Amino acid sequence: MDYDSKERGYRITETNGVLGLYLSCLSCKRTVVMLWADVVKTWGVGTWTRDIARSLTCTACGERMGSIMAWSDNRPSSERSGGPPESGYPLIGPLVAQKRLV
Ligand SMILES: [Zn+2]
Repeated sequence: MDYDSKERGYRITETNGVLGLYLSCLSCKRTVVMLWADVVKTWGVGTWTRDIARSLTCTACGERMGSIMAWSDNRPSSERSGGPPESGYPLIGPLVAQKRLV
């Protein structure tokens, strides 16, 4: 879901089986992961995913070309380590700032 998408996406719900969101910058390609609980806390239930993408500002390059993608883990629970599916990437960190919607 990109900031300039024609679709509104879907609305944030308390739980939807998704572990979190990948937050990416379409300009410099920085990507971070945000856990779902933090997504709900930051934007709140009922927020459209496109609005989340539009609210992002990249802390690396300053562009506002956000893109988000659901982060789900389809592996058997025995193979999960609690981290992202791809080992070590992307990093969880303050690479993309979340601007609160008003
Ligand atoms: Zn950037």
